[in-house]
Amino acid sequence: MTEQTYRVDVIGHQWAVELLTRQHNGGRMPQSLLLAGPLNVGKATLARHFAQLLNCTGDGKPCGVCRSCRKVVSGNHPDVRILDDEHETLKIDQVRDLQHELSLSPVEGRCRVAVLCNFERATAGAANALLKTLEEPASQVVIILTAPDPAGLLPTIVSRCQIVTLRPLPADQVQAALQEKWGAPAAQAELLASLSAGRLGWAVRALTDESFLERRQARLDDLRDLLQMHRAERLAYAQQLSRDVLALKEALTLWLTIWRDVLLLRSGSRAAIVNHDWQDSLQLLASKGSVAQAGEIVLKLQQALLNLDRNVNPRLNLEVALLRLPRYAEF
Ligand SMILES: [Zn+2]
Repeated sequence: MTEQTYRVDVIGHQWAVELLTRQHNGGRMPQSLLLAGPLNVGKATLARHFAQLLNCTGDGKPCGVCRSCRKVVSGNHPDVRILDDEHETLKIDQVRDLQHELSLSPVEGRCRVAVLCNFERATAGAANALLKTLEEPASQVVIILTAPDPAGLLPTIVSRCQIVTLRPLPADQVQAALQEKWGAPAAQAELLASLSAGRLGWAVRALTDESFLERRQARLDDLRDLLQMHRAERLAYAQQLSRDVLALKEALTLWLTIWRDVLLLRSGSRAAIVNHDWQDSLQLLASKGSVAQAGEIVLKLQQALLNLDRNVNPRLNLEVALLRLPRYAEF
């Protein structure tokens, strides 16, 4: 094993790593941090990197070899709590347990770190409970929240956090990482980097989890079906899909990239399209509709995603977006 095995490396987002490291080294590290940015762009990885940095006892923090760094990665560090179950909503009881932990002195490390992922999905009770901790933070406590969009959180929470917003990475950076770090063959890395729209976490999951790409294909098939469905069938589909908010988000994100591609093709720019594996269908959609229509659907899907992050009723939200899609007798 090499010395670097346990270090949580952040790929891209260099400015964010440097900013936080500089603040930490200068003793100005924020006690409450909000990492914002799209699904699977790297927020949780940056949070883990920072959790290592805060309690690392080695040189060149985070060193990735000291006991503390190893424990953060294995999830056994008594002072570092990371809540990142993507299928679970954060509940008030979890926040209360956490608050109890945070009120105690660190056991091994210099400070207690709590990472609360997907905080936009926390219940109102959980968010309000956390507010108390953010208002009166203990001295050796750092709280890191992740969420796609600060606008989806209580303003009183956001105003107490330093906000760091991560942007999608350039496709060639995602491709290089897939090849160099995950050993992906060049052609596959290129395709996944393109499909990921700059979200390395998405690309890695697509590479390592076969069902991930199968789910993507299923949503593309759904889109094909939706284009041929009547209003009532679309509403029934919306009811079904909106039961799983995570699946809904993935679907909307995918369909958004599809309609962006249609818009690009329709306006004559083929170079930047993302979904190369769906090119025939993209061409067909582009030939059937206008630029204005594609543009309007892109806006509706963007709005639907934004609304989801702001806790607007998922089903109504999806219905509005689906009813905007054109209807074709055959597709
Ligand atoms: Zn270390």
